[in-house]
Amino acid sequence: MTDTLFTNVMIFDGSGDPLFPGEVLVRGNYIAAVARGEAQLDGTGATLVDGGGMTLMPGLVEGHAHLTWPSSVERVVNTMKLPLEEHLLVTARNARITLDHGFTSAYSAGSLGERFEVALRDMIDSGGLPGPRLRASALEKGAEGVLGVPEGHDPTHDRDIAGLREYVFRMKALGCDTIKFLMSSDEGFAPGGAQLLMYSEEEAQAIGEAAREAGIWLACHAQAAEAVKRACRAGFRAIYHCTYADEEALDMLEARKDALFTAPAPGLLYARVHEAQEFGIGRPEAERLGAVSGLELMAEVYPKMKKRGIRVLPGGDYGFPYNPVGRNARDLQLFVELLGFSPSEALVAATRHGGALMDLPVGEVKEGMFADLLLVDGDPTKDVAILQDKARIPAVMKDGRFHRTPVRGLPLAA
Ligand SMILES: [Zn+2]
Repeated sequence: MTDTLFTNVMIFDGSGDPLFPGEVLVRGNYIAAVARGEAQLDGTGATLVDGGGMTLMPGLVEGHAHLTWPSSVERVVNTMKLPLEEHLLVTARNARITLDHGFTSAYSAGSLGERFEVALRDMIDSGGLPGPRLRASALEKGAEGVLGVPEGHDPTHDRDIAGLREYVFRMKALGCDTIKFLMSSDEGFAPGGAQLLMYSEEEAQAIGEAAREAGIWLACHAQAAEAVKRACRAGFRAIYHCTYADEEALDMLEARKDALFTAPAPGLLYARVHEAQEFGIGRPEAERLGAVSGLELMAEVYPKMKKRGIRVLPGGDYGFPYNPVGRNARDLQLFVELLGFSPSEALVAATRHGGALMDLPVGEVKEGMFADLLLVDGDPTKDVAILQDKARIPAVMKDGRFHRTPVRGLPLAA
């Protein structure tokens, strides 16, 4: 494996500190040294990459990924369910597109194929396909069924406690890292859906207990305040949306802030309000889907969460025709423009906090971390929007190998 020395770069290290000039030495798949200012590193035997004053930063982490949701910036697909064979291939393509756009890690928030992400993760890890580090999820599961699966055909449907326990253990045995439950429904599924609780307290507790016994993480879609509380009490690790969280729900999230993560996923709502006209979603439809009120509520709730030190991550729900995979970095801009984050805070959320969510040594430019790095043409701490343009990210390195490099003739990873 080639070693790499990045010189003449401005470093954003993931801590939130201002950019500083320096050098970074990558040995094998990890960061061996970081030098500040005039200090120079011994790059004997390493390939020299002169950054020309560009920013070197940690690879981005998508905190609520749906690689199986078919639409991407490269291809619109007007259905959520494809024949199995096409669906798996589209999923693999979406993994490559995600990495292309600077996301070197993705934490899945639910899949449309029971073992798609497990198989994909293992293929990516073995070097067989390009894609981000992946925390693989089981199906997007609600008590009423699985998203995209017609009623009566949900292979996992079982309301009793024994059935839920069996489901959790079976997902662990399949190799999933995390299981997604719909703790509440959603305005996007049916009017008033956000307040519809999908699992009782007893069921949520049984799911939590089974997951702790099995050793698997839990993630959930939770809109209603009570859904958030139920997820907190049951020990869920990733609690998504939380749009209707009240003060008690925020207290409960804060009490477990070192053990959980949230993500609002504003991209989908933003797209429905502002960008989905040509897909038949104008203002009245956006209102009916709860996107207008949802964005307003998020703008109230998430600044409070940030203030309480709850880790709020960008990303989520990309994969719709009007909110395609590949546009994920747009969330950072929405964090800044709608949710009260500074550019630097949004970047920390997408890198260092993302690394904590992945539970891997990624998300920081620091000695000993895996070498997941981006070269960015410009200063994202001034303008996070530049990260949406992959032409402004001339180098993407994952695990010490270039997925994309500005240096001619360098060997690329798979
Ligand atoms: Zn989602």
